[in-house]
Amino acid sequence: MKFIGAHVSAAGGVENAPVNAFNIGAKAFALFTKNQRQWLASPLTPKSIDLFKQNCAKYGYKPNQILPHDSYLINLGHPEKYALEKSRSAFLDEIKRCEQLGLDRLNFHPGSYLKKITEDVCLQNISDSINMVLDKTTGVTAVIENTAGQGTNLGYRFEHLAAIIDKVNDKSRIGVCIDTCHAFTSGYDLRTPENFKKTFDNFEKIVGFHYLKGMHLNDSKKELGSRVDRHASIGKGFIGMEAFNQIINDSRFDNIPLILETPDPNIWKEEIKTLYGLIHS
Ligand SMILES: [Zn+2]
Ligand SMILES: [Zn+2]
Repeated sequence: MKFIGAHVSAAGGVENAPVNAFNIGAKAFALFTKNQRQWLASPLTPKSIDLFKQNCAKYGYKPNQILPHDSYLINLGHPEKYALEKSRSAFLDEIKRCEQLGLDRLNFHPGSYLKKITEDVCLQNISDSINMVLDKTTGVTAVIENTAGQGTNLGYRFEHLAAIIDKVNDKSRIGVCIDTCHAFTSGYDLRTPENFKKTFDNFEKIVGFHYLKGMHLNDSKKELGSRVDRHASIGKGFIGMEAFNQIINDSRFDNIPLILETPDPNIWKEEIKTLYGLIHS
């Protein structure tokens, strides 16, 4: 089963996200459980939590169809002690919010070394951060997103994802999310069936599909290997339709949230329909 959806708005309360998803014909959705550009957020209210669960049940969204995303401010590999602590406690809060909502995974960007430490030390910081937070929580899997490798962001090589996973103690609660735009601009070609196969054979060998807990389906405004993160609507960027056709018809991408983060919310409904239309009967 393919669960295709989009990163929908949770404005007015998390309980609105499943409603917004349903309204665009989505079978999956992503959301921020707090404002993604602020450190502090008030706790989720019992009423909001209740309504979120009710709406998910009403519209048929199970945890494996929902991929919450953490705040953009968090850097779990931060080179400085105080800032690292701040990120770790914010991440702990994010995981706890997922726990409260009955969700089983949280998508995050691994971290940046900010030219102050080596990549290896940064990757170690990220694994340490994950271990600390998993120790204090239950039931939620930390899902590392691959990045475009813009600036000093790590996670743009499958080897980075594997290195982080390698040092995580509880392998049952660590996973990855592959963003097609990030993969492409970090240098993994997806445009032809041959290159798509090569990229995901490589992924299987280095990381392993059993860690795949979600995908972000985005086309790219920038070229292969540019290491710039600019999403385009499906079929309107440098990646093109064939890559999405491959994903939609490959059972290795079954039963996980496949999330659009494309720039025009007005056409999400259409994009979801188009993607479902690619399924070979
Ligand atoms: Zn992301
Ligand atoms: Zn993404």
